[in-house]
Parts: sequence; C-alpha cells; structure tokens
Amino acid sequence: MITKQFENNKVNLFKTEEERKLMADAIKKVEKSFSKEYPIVIDGKEIMNSGKIKSVNPSKPSEIVGLVSKASKEQAIEALEKAHKNFQWWSRESQAKRSAILLRAAEIMRQRKMELNAVMVTEVGKNWVEADADTAEAIDFMEFYAREGLRYASGAPVVKINGEDNRQFYIPLGVGVVIPPWNFPLAITTGMTTAAIVTGNTVILKPASDTPVIAYKLYEILKEAGLPDGVLTYLPGSGGEVGDTLVDHPLTRFITFTGSMEIGIRIYERASKVNSGQKWLKRVIAEMGGKDYIIVENDGDIESAANGIVQGAFGFQGQKCSACSRAIINKEIYEKMIGMVKERTEKIKVGDTREFTIPDVHYYNMGPVANIASKEKIMEYIEFGKKNSRLVTGGSAPEINGGYFIQPTVFADIKPMSKLEQEEIFGPVLSIIKSESFENSIEIANDTNYGLTGAIYTNSREKLSKAERELFTGNLYLNRGCTGALVGVHPFGGFNMSGTDSKAGGTDYLLLFLQAKLVSEKV
Ligand code: NAP
Repeated sequence: MITKQFENNKVNLFKTEEERKLMADAIKKVEKSFSKEYPIVIDGKEIMNSGKIKSVNPSKPSEIVGLVSKASKEQAIEALEKAHKNFQWWSRESQAKRSAILLRAAEIMRQRKMELNAVMVTEVGKNWVEADADTAEAIDFMEFYAREGLRYASGAPVVKINGEDNRQFYIPLGVGVVIPPWNFPLAITTGMTTAAIVTGNTVILKPASDTPVIAYKLYEILKEAGLPDGVLTYLPGSGGEVGDTLVDHPLTRFITFTGSMEIGIRIYERASKVNSGQKWLKRVIAEMGGKDYIIVENDGDIESAANGIVQGAFGFQGQKCSACSRAIINKEIYEKMIGMVKERTEKIKVGDTREFTIPDVHYYNMGPVANIASKEKIMEYIEFGKKNSRLVTGGSAPEINGGYFIQPTVFADIKPMSKLEQEEIFGPVLSIIKSESFENSIEIANDTNYGLTGAIYTNSREKLSKAERELFTGNLYLNRGCTGALVGVHPFGGFNMSGTDSKAGGTDYLLLFLQAKLVSEKV
C-alpha cells in the first residue's frame, strides 16, 4: 500500500565538500571496475559470450568501462521464446507485488546514486549534475509508474445499466522489446523497461551499445529488488545485428523505442508486417529526434533567454532530444542576443567530466560527445556551417586524451529551411536565425519535420496565448528553457517525426503497455 504522494527526487548540485568527496570516491571505485566482463541474461541465466561490446570512456577512449557480452541472433530468438513462456505467469502476478518491486528498486537506486552517477560520468561523459539528474529521473520513473500501475489496476468506469454488471479493466500485452538510446542511459532505459514490467509484460531489454554497463546496473538493481528471473532479459547486442530479429519476430507483441528518426521509421515499418505465426498487430511506441528551438521576442527577458539558450544548447554537449539547436531571435535584438550568447558560451569549460570544475553553474562544464562516429558527424556539420554561415564562436575539436571533445559552437545568420536549420545534429552546435516578426518566428519554429520541445520568451500575454495555440510542439515552455522535463510534472513526447507522443512520465503512459478488456455479466 503506497501512502506517500509522488514527489520528484532532488538533483544534487554538489555544493558541499562532503557531496563532492562522495562523488569523487565513487568515480575512483568505478574506475577500479574498468574492463570488467558482463554477461547477457536470458531467463535468469547469466551467459558470458566470447563476442564483446567494448564500452569505452568517451573522455579517454583508451579506458574500457566494461566488456559486455554481445547477443547473437539465435540468443535473441531464444530470449523471445523464454519471455513468451514467462509472460504466462508474470501477467497474472498481483499489481501490488509488481508495484512494490519498482518501489524497492527506486530505494536501491537512491542508496547507490553516486555509483550510478559515476558509471554515467565515465561511460557517456555526463558531468556530475547531469548524471545525478539522470539517476534522479530514473528513480522518479519507478516511483511514478509504481503508483500509476495501481491506478490502472482499478480499471475504468463504465455507464451503469439495469440487469448487467459491466466492468472494464486492463491487461498486459505480452513480450515487449525495449530499445533505448545512450543519451539518458539510466533514466530512459529505466522508464521504458519498468513501465512495461509494472503493467505485467515480460521484457527484452536491448541497451544502446554505447551504454550497456549502466543498463546492466538497472538489471542488477531490479533483481535485487525482487524481480523474478525471466521477467527481464538483459540482451546487449548491436542494433544492426539483433535489432531486426527482435522487431520482426512473431512473438514480439510490442516495441518501445527511443532514438533517432531513421531507426524509429525502420522499426515502425518492419513492425507493421504480420509475419508467419503472428497472432496480433504489433504496437510501436517510438520517441525520436528533435530540432528544438527557443524564440526570443524583443519584449522578452533577454538575460533569462540567453541563459536558457546556452543551457539548452550545450547541456550534456547538446545531446538531448530536447536540446535547443535553434535560437529564433527578433531582428531588433538580434545582434545584442548574439553577443550575449557568445559571452556565455565562451565561459564553458570543455574537458574530462570526472573533474568537477565549476560548482553552481553546472552547464558550464561540458564533456565529450558519445562516440567517434558522433564526433565525425558533428564536425562535418560544423565544417559545413563555417563555409555557409557566420561562425560566432567555437568550431574546433580540442585534443584531450584522445577524447571526443568538441568546442561549443554557435553559428548566426542561418537561413530558414537550410541544412543547419532543419537537420538534427545532436551535438554542441547552435544555429541562430533572424526573425522579421512574431508571426515569422512561429513560422520558422514550425518549419521542420519534428515537433518535440520549444520555448518562447516574451512579456506579451497576447503573444504567449498565440504561441500556445500555434506552436506545434509536444513540450512547449513559456518564459523558461526547453530542456529539463520532470517526471509527472512535464509528461514528455513529441509530434510529427519526433515520434508517437507517448508522454513518458505522464498519466497516459502506462496505457501504451496495456489493453482494455470489458466483461459484461447478466445479473
Ligand atoms: P539510435 O542510433 O537510433 O539508437 C537507438 C537505439 O536503437 C540503440 O539501442 C540502437 O542500438 C538501436 N538500433 C540501432 N539500429 C537498430 C535496428 N536496426 N533495429 C532496432 N534497433 C536498432 O539513436 P541514439 O544515437 O542512441 O540516440 C540519439 C537519438 O535519440 C536522437 O535522435 C535523439 O533526439 C533521440 N532521443 C529522443 C528522445 C525522445 O524522447 N523523443 C529521447 C532521447 C533521445 P545500437 O546502440 O546497438 O546501435
């Protein structure tokens, strides 16, 4: 029985010496486990494969955070068959038990927060505060979905008529394939996995290949919290190698994916095909990319706007689906805002995030991008920008320990509908676009195929109302930045090519993992 109301976990800003020492110690401890080998886990059995995913530290790629067994296609099929079998009993387990497991796991995460943060600092280059926010969000997801599971278990009201007792309630779907990205490697992985589990489904978790170690920690924590063997399969493997097998298999009932538009579309298309022996239409929950924006009007608070833009553009190296990659600025304040953004951007220190440099202003501490392929792709965009627009600041890739570092980069005079205004770069690159009028700003904001997050700074109530009506954006923020959605407070998901608008962390989310059954009894 849960008596306490849901409350968001507080993010640690590491203001005290004591907190900083705990985190520094946790990093040292995690470094001692570098190069450790991890198994895959099918039906509760740990299997060490000779083929391994090498998870490296993007701040210093010569350091191996973990060597994680890589699943084969045959193991993916075996995992699906076992998960299908295990669904028969897990789907009948009581909601109270399923929710209690999530609450226990949330408590274990609270106890192990520094360790989990330290894994993310080294496995994906999060700075301390960003890592802590990731762990806090993972805890929030479990606390929230544990409660939501109980709410859904009480069914839905139906209209009463004489002579019949009618009941509508919710049952789970079956075997779910969970495919998360690397950018919120604990929060998103936990949210997607535990939402499916708490509603009674069995899950094959295929973590992103850049972050399988932190995903293993989630498996370990859920097991410690009492999750029975066989409910969660931990199946690291290359998306290119086992992805199609998992998506195509007739026993797969649903796929929940968060990642790029390209892979999301591929999954959506493949899942639509009914394969031999398949008894259902697969459900696909796909949360994809963004080309998010901040509009600044000439009557807005430009100090707050400049802070919002820089934090949104460069927090976690611009690798958030909600990152501010476009600043749409009214022509009357255009040059002034460029100067303010430049000044703030140039204060950002780039380096190994194991070091905690500047307390209080956490986003002024930027780590590496996730991997070499990302670095190369982002640098291509930067070279393109240098040739085709005005470079305001940044533009280079500093050499530090062979890490994947890129200077925060700002381009101005970016034209609407041009490459840098349209394509998701997913790195520390901000495009500034001049707007002729408020209407023009709305037109530019809405001109991409995406529709994930956006923000507007203005003191005009009329403009705020119009923005609220006309900006086609899943998560719209007024007079604040466009990142930092909180579980329960800002249900998250986007329109158009940003995905199926699942609103993760909201009250509609668990319904995506359930189906409604109506029973009508003559009385
Ligand atoms: P990604 O390259 O699309 O990969 C996402 C996941 O898909 C990974 O686990 C990947 O595995 C897997 N995958 C790759 N090929 C596959 C295939 N053929 N079949 C099945 N799975 C396959 O994306 P990412 O680089 O990890 O993440 C960045 C993207 O995620 C950005 O576009 C960002 O905007 C988006 N994102 C969206 C949200 C949202 O809520 N809308 C939140 C966070 C991130 P491997 O790692 O093994 O390749």
